[in-house]
Amino acid sequence: MRHSSNPMILPLAGTALVGVVIGGLVSYPGWGLGISLLAWSLLQARHYNRLMKWLSRELDELPPEDTGPWGDLLDQLARRHKRGVIREQRLQSAISRFQQCTAALSSAIVIIDRDNHLEWWNRAAGKLLGIDDRDRGKSIFNIVRDPRFIRYYRKGVYQEPLQLISPNNHDMYLQYQVHRFGDDDRVLVARDVTRLFKLEQTRQDFVANASHELRTPLTVISGYLETFLDQELPRPLQRGMSQMQQQAKRMESLVADLLLLSRLEATQHTSDEQPIHIHSLIAQIHRDAADLSADREHSFNLDIDPDYDLIGQELELQSAFSNLVFNAVRYTPEAGNIEISWRVDAKGGHFSVKDNGIGIDPIHIPRLTERFYRVDESRSSASGGTGLGLAIVKHVLMRHGAQLSIESRSGMGSTFSCHFPSDMIRSIKQVANGQH
Ligand code: ADP
Repeated sequence: MRHSSNPMILPLAGTALVGVVIGGLVSYPGWGLGISLLAWSLLQARHYNRLMKWLSRELDELPPEDTGPWGDLLDQLARRHKRGVIREQRLQSAISRFQQCTAALSSAIVIIDRDNHLEWWNRAAGKLLGIDDRDRGKSIFNIVRDPRFIRYYRKGVYQEPLQLISPNNHDMYLQYQVHRFGDDDRVLVARDVTRLFKLEQTRQDFVANASHELRTPLTVISGYLETFLDQELPRPLQRGMSQMQQQAKRMESLVADLLLLSRLEATQHTSDEQPIHIHSLIAQIHRDAADLSADREHSFNLDIDPDYDLIGQELELQSAFSNLVFNAVRYTPEAGNIEISWRVDAKGGHFSVKDNGIGIDPIHIPRLTERFYRVDESRSSASGGTGLGLAIVKHVLMRHGAQLSIESRSGMGSTFSCHFPSDMIRSIKQVANGQH
């Protein structure tokens, strides 16, 4: 009901008039007015008290009945109140549906605010991450303390998930994935991948064992072939034997690469990281690459920042860097240019190998690091590669928290770059001054 003027004015004026008239009858109109106004005020105070009492009670209680302007006011309030109750019930049921749904999920879901504090989590988070009610408001880094998780979370690049042992159960493997939402809030989803992890481990063990078993017979075959080839042999036999020796060598490097790859896959991170003198590492790779180039006369260009070294596992990095440089030699025609560089900037350290060789059609680039993926089967086997080089590079870089980028176009040469995070770089000047 809408009132254009104040609904209290008319009853108030009426009461005052009655007071004045009755007072007038006994010759005291002033007293009559005063008493009637006092009675009016007391009545309003009573209405007001009833309203306040109702407002202070439970939400689902109906408002008191009343007439006149107070009755209208209470009706309005009652209607608004009812709408509020219905809205609250709807909200409550939506929340409980959401809670039932998240409780039914087998993955842990954790909502984390912009200061990295836990805000909300579902039931599975208790089982997978060991979060309980006392953890509300605590930092996520108190729950998942693994430095790899902390680095992953802080870095803020969440395209790839991260796989680690559960902080609550050391026989369980979890895959973490973070998504941003709202005002720099994050939702963390952790999935139990133990079964997948074990299957993957069985596959890795099989490849490692098979490669290991193949090594001894291959060494014997190569040894005998070498001895036979030292003898004077009839020409056709000589040709056959030397082809056999070539293939045996290929198999040996294949087995060596398979073993290296399965060793790299066995653990996700390097354990014995040390400062590496990058200048001498690149110089050694350059010498080997020049040997591989032999009479194909490639020209090498080295651009190395002498002020910074890299922290990592030397043998692994040597293997990764030399794979990139040897590929450049293999896939760059005679007298081509190969540029090897090591540069450091605010983002970290960058090792790059640039060639002006045959290049790669961009459609192949996303799949290049897959095992045995080859752009062109004929040109790769002719080059003497195993098809595992870039898979090794990818694994080594992953273990060092680094990333590989590939820029190439068919016939326009290629650039392969390894990007290392700043915390893997060491300034030689700081070390000389005694700082780390
Ligand atoms: P492979 O042993 O066959 O060289 P890799 O994993 O090292 O195996 O490389 C995968 C494929 O990527 C190669 O077969 C080759 O086609 C392509 N490739 C790698 N490096 C280069 C490069 N510098 N220039 C052109 N193609 C390249």
